[in-house]
Amino acid sequence: MASKPEAGAPAPPATLPAEPLLRLLGGTGSEFGTRTFLVGGPVRDLLLGLSGPDLDIAVESSPDLVGRALAERFGTRFIYHRRFMSGTVQLADGSHIDITRTRTEEYPGPAVLPRVRPAGIEDDLVRRDFTINALALELSPGSFGRLIDPHCGRLDLARRRVRVLHDASFRDDPTRAYRAIRFAVRLGFEIEPGTLALMRAAIREGFPGLLTPERVLYELRLVCAEPLVLPMVEALLREKLLHACFDSVAERGLLRRLQRLAGIDPELLFVFLLSRLSLTDRFPVTTGERDAARAVREFDRLRPRLARARRPSTVHRLLAPIPGEALEVLARTEAAAVRRPIRLYLDRLRHVRTAVDGRFLRSLGIRPGPAFRRIIEKVRAARLDGRVGTREQEIELGRRLARRQGNG
Ligand code: ATP
Repeated sequence: MASKPEAGAPAPPATLPAEPLLRLLGGTGSEFGTRTFLVGGPVRDLLLGLSGPDLDIAVESSPDLVGRALAERFGTRFIYHRRFMSGTVQLADGSHIDITRTRTEEYPGPAVLPRVRPAGIEDDLVRRDFTINALALELSPGSFGRLIDPHCGRLDLARRRVRVLHDASFRDDPTRAYRAIRFAVRLGFEIEPGTLALMRAAIREGFPGLLTPERVLYELRLVCAEPLVLPMVEALLREKLLHACFDSVAERGLLRRLQRLAGIDPELLFVFLLSRLSLTDRFPVTTGERDAARAVREFDRLRPRLARARRPSTVHRLLAPIPGEALEVLARTEAAAVRRPIRLYLDRLRHVRTAVDGRFLRSLGIRPGPAFRRIIEKVRAARLDGRVGTREQEIELGRRLARRQGNG
């Protein structure tokens, strides 16, 4: 059932971007006897005049055959996951087309993944998160360009609001609270008052806390990849969504510091956020991320010593054990007195190599061990603090220290 156009609601442009490609997709589907649709985000963005590189396609049967035929046509690869009834065609320019079998979903309980069964396009739209994402554009020959909008998504696009399809939506899948905030901030929309009330009720009742740590972290990674991270995190805090998913959230100075991280690599933003959240072992982050987040969190202890450090060698000694990602974060979030030595370490001190290295010491007959490392560190400190200037002086100092060890 395609709904009637609403006054003021955007309609698909007469000429679609990538129209030849979209027609090819629809034509290929019909060769296998299925209707083909552009669905979800790409339709929303098309109606808003935004465009992204990736396409989400739904077919009512044979996603594997349609995907394989398309990949053959493009001379690229198709990866199909039978269990999920969906696959991806990679395109030569790095973008991709996701092809999914239309399905219906049934939630056996709050916050658990749904049971999925094949179904038609209407059911496939009912299962979606928000009306603005519950849109389909038919691509099949004969009906090309027909918009299917059973939940008045176009009207909500025109009114610039994020609205759920039914009252149990946030309970079924509390990740939708993260998504509602992400779309509202990204698009400059409001969360429609009824939807906001439902979202707040679901948070109050603790449903987001039932999500698996994997799913929560996935949502946080998506937030970190958005240009408007700051207002999104602000909203996550305001709505107590992070509090619902983590035992504790270190809020003090969080937003101020986050602001200083504008434009930084999303992975570093993620490390910073993790450093503010109680992260039990259940949270599946990489060892690198866990160590970096811990170092950012524990920097409080090092801060006064670093602020007092006068010699470059002291700065080096204090900062060398800290993971690089943590230092990149701290180099932006800390106050100037501390930021400066961190920057000095990152830009200069950590790259300093001396002529007295492992090979040199072995050539003097010293075996690797604690003494070995001490000599290297002492020569490096002398070099960093300007007590030795030339390669010859470094080697001379290295020999002297080695002799003192009784080995050289
Ligand atoms: P983006 O522009 O961020 O990629 P998108 O709308 O394409 O936005 P995806 O996460 O790629 O978002 O999801 C594709 C579509 O699948 C959505 O448009 C929505 O219709 C549906 N969807 C995704 N996640 C959910 C969810 N948790 N609950 C219901 N529907 C969802």
